[in-house]
Amino acid sequence: MKEKKIYGVFRGAPFHMVGDGFRVSNYFPGGNRFGKMISPFFLLDYNPPHDFGPSGTPRGVGVHPHRGFETVTIAFEGSVAHHDSHGHSGVIRPGDVQWMTAGSGVLHKEYHEKEFASKGGAFHMLQLWVNLPAKHKMTEPRYQSITSEMVGKAVLPDNAGLVRVVAGAYDGITGPAKTFSPINLLIGELHAGRHAGFTFPPTTNTGILFTGGEATLQGKTPVSAMDFVLFDNDGEDVRVEATTNCSFVVFNGEPINEPVAHYGPFVMNTMQEIEEAFEDFREGKFGVLED
Ligand code: MN
Repeated sequence: MKEKKIYGVFRGAPFHMVGDGFRVSNYFPGGNRFGKMISPFFLLDYNPPHDFGPSGTPRGVGVHPHRGFETVTIAFEGSVAHHDSHGHSGVIRPGDVQWMTAGSGVLHKEYHEKEFASKGGAFHMLQLWVNLPAKHKMTEPRYQSITSEMVGKAVLPDNAGLVRVVAGAYDGITGPAKTFSPINLLIGELHAGRHAGFTFPPTTNTGILFTGGEATLQGKTPVSAMDFVLFDNDGEDVRVEATTNCSFVVFNGEPINEPVAHYGPFVMNTMQEIEEAFEDFREGKFGVLED
């Protein structure tokens, strides 16, 4: 087996607020700097640990539409409440994942969960947009509430740590998320001085976001929290050696080799489909959701 070459180590854009509840750095598309290299993943917003003070009115982002892709929210610290126009709602807490398929169109809102908001505290979260293949863009909206208990847990040998499997598989352990194209979404937690290996075929795209601590990749490249590492397709093996206790999220998937038309909250294949999305949204076809 041959090791994958690192294409680059990147930092996200300067922080911006999404609504008043998410202080995020955007890693991609950011002017589409990775383009096809990170498909089927389309957007990554990362909210590293940030202390939100107590608030009687939960912070967050109000009602807005989506069509043509999925939003995946991973909670590391703090809690988020979600409601959508298809009657789905839920709260995700540390270790939980919310996998929403916008498909043909939903309205949703995302706020800090009430109790968390009233106490305030560290908030650490990630939102990923997963593109849908053309034939599934108009699929029925779906909501997968994946609790920490449901997430697959691959315990690494030698007390090295843990790989949590949200989607796909690692070392024979499978993840609960249903996906429309082949995806591995993994969360790694390594103890200082230990290591983990990952093997992905050259036909897939691979990136890793570090969410805590320091590590060495492929035996030579130092990385730390907030670094996003994009790999070339060539080769198969990825090796993470923890310098300190560290944590990271691994994104791997088969690219969707189709044209992308993106505007605001819609990710489609053509500009005409974007216009149709706006029209359907204006005509109320995404349903009703109160603010
Ligand atoms: Mn949203």
